[in-house]
Amino acid sequence: MSASIGYRRDDEGELWIESVPLRDIAQRFGTPCYVYSRHAIEVRWDAYREALRGRGSLCYAVKANGTLAILSLLAQRGAGFDIVSGGELARVLRAGGDPARIVFSGVGKTVKEIRRALLAGIRCFNVESAAELERIEGIAAESANPAPIALRINPDIDPQTHPYIATGLAQSKFGIALDEAEALYQHAAASPHLTVEGVAFHIGSQLLSVAPLREAAERTAALVRTLHERGITMGHVDVGGGLGVRYVDEEPPDPQNHIAAVAAPLSDLGVELLVEPGRAIVAEAGALLTRVEYLKQSAGRDLVIVDAGMNDYLRPALYDAAHRIEPLITRDDEPIRDREVVGPICESSDLFARHCPLAVAPGDVLAIRCTGAYGAAMASQYNGRPRAPEVLVDGAQAHLIRRRETIDDLMRGESVLVGG
Ligand SMILES: *Cc1c(COP(=O)(O)O)cnc(C)c1O
Repeated sequence: MSASIGYRRDDEGELWIESVPLRDIAQRFGTPCYVYSRHAIEVRWDAYREALRGRGSLCYAVKANGTLAILSLLAQRGAGFDIVSGGELARVLRAGGDPARIVFSGVGKTVKEIRRALLAGIRCFNVESAAELERIEGIAAESANPAPIALRINPDIDPQTHPYIATGLAQSKFGIALDEAEALYQHAAASPHLTVEGVAFHIGSQLLSVAPLREAAERTAALVRTLHERGITMGHVDVGGGLGVRYVDEEPPDPQNHIAAVAAPLSDLGVELLVEPGRAIVAEAGALLTRVEYLKQSAGRDLVIVDAGMNDYLRPALYDAAHRIEPLITRDDEPIRDREVVGPICESSDLFARHCPLAVAPGDVLAIRCTGAYGAAMASQYNGRPRAPEVLVDGAQAHLIRRRETIDDLMRGESVLVGG
């Protein structure tokens, strides 16, 4: 049970992260609390880097987990970054990331965000529409420097994942249709304010097969060849992220498989590969610790009510995502029953597991596993709940990398009506 990098259960039934019992983390920092294994993040990063060696560079997708300490540990390992907003740009710069290794994705880049990114000297804008290309060209025309661009194309491929995280189908809001790309590239190549750096795609997330990624790379290779014939050369192909992880019993491909699948169709084009993994770097490194507040029987349901809610971890409510949930210390004085684990939020979708075999009593702490990606990053204060702290464990050391929010944090920036 629960063998994954950075975590182990000892002979007494106690769950550890690196050289620290998770019970110590819950005692010291309270619950709910996110905890990450530094070792697990670095092992995943190094596996990707090794798989890509000599063929390109990695741009970590900041939106998966943009906490400064995590960005800075990746920056220290020479990471590039994939950002989707001016806020993420500021985070990467604050964490010591190299602007020349930043690519900027997203369908709605504002004038302000484009200006800031251009000024910072990012590596490339991944452009998602003709209108955005025109906007970027206009902004670059006011400055001394041309804007480096790639078009994010939409290869029209079904990635076979949850519809909310599928992004590469023709009807999705992302990317530019393949048959429109050529004309836009010709425009960009002729503009003194734009430099054509490459082409990009990202077809979806939590992919459990590399076949759709290979197909996207094949379609992109065909476009690159056509453009080469027109005299427009590409320096890089950005193949996005999307590799799945094991939440329960999935069998995702590993980084080696991922890189091999996308590299093969592009290998004779003389382009650098950019890869933008997010989830695959940080998901399995993280756990959300939560305390059992109450046990409740309700119309035949065996409910475990915990102190974390969908404001802390949204994926189960948003995507019906399944997770392993385990006690920090196994107990044999209570029967194992099939239980539902629910949060305190006033929404019926605030539910972490529908069927979870658990022996628990009030006061026990549970670990919701594999929550390092799209966890803290998606947290909100809904229902008047301060956001949970984040702790990074490094061997026997536990570092508080984001403190728990206070009640004052909940109301920061607000004011009461004065004089009605
Ligand atoms: C979200 C996103 C990623 C990262 O996706 P993961 O599934 O977390 O690897 C990479 N590139 C782009 C453009 C994205 O939007």
